[in-house]
Amino acid sequence: MPRILYSDNDYPDIELERELFGRHGIDVIVAQCRTEDEVIAAAEGCFGILVQYAPVTERVLAALPEVGIVSRIGAGYDTIDTEACVRHGVWVANSPDYGVGEVATHALALGLALTRNIVAYHRDIAAGNWHYLSSGKLRRPRDMTLGIVGLGRIGKRMAQISRDTFRRVIAYDPYLIDGDFPVFVERVPSLDALARVADIVSLHTPLTPETRGMIDARFFAALQRGSFVVNTARGAVVDIDALLGALDTGILGGAGLDVLPVEPVSRDSRLLGHPRVVLSPHSAFYSVEAERELRRKAAQNLATWLSSGRPEYVVTRGTRVPRR
Ligand code: NAD
Repeated sequence: MPRILYSDNDYPDIELERELFGRHGIDVIVAQCRTEDEVIAAAEGCFGILVQYAPVTERVLAALPEVGIVSRIGAGYDTIDTEACVRHGVWVANSPDYGVGEVATHALALGLALTRNIVAYHRDIAAGNWHYLSSGKLRRPRDMTLGIVGLGRIGKRMAQISRDTFRRVIAYDPYLIDGDFPVFVERVPSLDALARVADIVSLHTPLTPETRGMIDARFFAALQRGSFVVNTARGAVVDIDALLGALDTGILGGAGLDVLPVEPVSRDSRLLGHPRVVLSPHSAFYSVEAERELRRKAAQNLATWLSSGRPEYVVTRGTRVPRR
């Protein structure tokens, strides 16, 4: 019976995957691998690996000539050395589109929590202060401009669900052609131009060498006083020291962060308990339905590759073919 390694997972149970692989006549080896050596030992004799966080590196691939495909449970794939996979002819697949609505809604929720002061009001009330001015003045949302950085799947959805709330939606995405901008989104030519106009900035880029640390002191310096930043993309896109500095000077009115450069947040971080920071635990993707879709799509890649030689969601193409 063909066999895959389920290298690691943090789910309460894996009935979903067992049922899916069972239907396709695939045997599942379940492990909780943290190291390259653990993956190598566990994946012996497997044609594929379903991976959450375990490392898939040059050394792992070199030791496992029978592995033809690696499928990541998630949209990102930074624990997989895709260049090594290409060199070894191993297909890389992922599950990229399971939670677009969830992430966009979460980003809007963080933006609204900041602009409507929800978390601070809650704290004030708990401290015995019931008054609509307890945390200062609020501005009319209909006078605000939302600036989206990265107008891909999630950024576009964010624009769509936010357009009735704010006066303008503008976006910066140097990789899209004009035709890919929805008519109700105004294109701005640079990050700097976006910073100068937006009242709320929402980040939706991937983490790349170019976007790492892109939201830095220079970016914050260009903002209008009292603007807000929301990050549901990847933590390392934002320079957290620069963000804290901008909060201190009042340039930044508040930050809503679902992702951080190091997760979970450390107990001594200044972000914790900061009156103008709202955090969530990298949960923007989450709904019961999105999690099921995420896991089903990642597992299905392996079954589809076994029957057709190609997964549904290709990250990088391989040359290895299933043994029949
Ligand atoms: P996508 O690939 O559809 O869109 C990303 C967009 O960013 C693209 O249009 C691209 O052109 C643009 N971009 C790339 N580099 C840029 C730059 N330097 N400046 C401006 N724009 C740039 O991706 P997506 O599915 O919309 O996901 C967006 C982000 O959301 C990713 O970082 C992803 O990891 C993250 N995400 C987070 C969660 C969560 O739970 N918080 C869940 C899913 C995805």
